[in-house]
Amino acid sequence: MVTIDYLQQMQGYALAPGMVNLFELDPDRPLIFDWIQHHIPKINHLLQQYLQDCHACFPPTEQPPLQIFAVPLSPYFGVDAFCNFSSQPMTILIDVGRVEPHYWLGLVAHEYAHAQVGKPGHDRAFAEVLNHLCLGLGLPCPGNTEAQLKCYPGGLPVVDALAFWRGTPASRLPGQ
Ligand SMILES: [Zn+2]
Repeated sequence: MVTIDYLQQMQGYALAPGMVNLFELDPDRPLIFDWIQHHIPKINHLLQQYLQDCHACFPPTEQPPLQIFAVPLSPYFGVDAFCNFSSQPMTILIDVGRVEPHYWLGLVAHEYAHAQVGKPGHDRAFAEVLNHLCLGLGLPCPGNTEAQLKCYPGGLPVVDALAFWRGTPASRLPGQ
């Protein structure tokens, strides 16, 4: 798929206009678009595997209908990932450039927990689902305070989120 088509499709899942970064003003736009075109299938395939790993922690009747995609998100919104509850199926978008690959699975689990509870917010119901997921996936326990839950899986913020999408040495998948 051509990158601009892909990004525009992703825009359809955004919670606000401008949330998906189209790089209109970025001088590296051709480089970034080329990199996305060549690498997004592999990244999305991996995220899909992580989603299946989350599903496997629950019986089929408790698995929320979900799709998942990697996409660069505008830094203006300050989010690494989110779940769109109103799309059919629900949609998780993740800016994998903003989070170290080591934490991608935890981030998918975080958004999966929101989808399972069916709303944003880091309350007791969210905590129960996320803790269950972490046990099943072999991830560190997220704790139970709202602050701990909100920033799970943690990790240091990536200094230059766009470095990943430019295809610099930072652009590596987990385990590479
Ligand atoms: Zn959250």
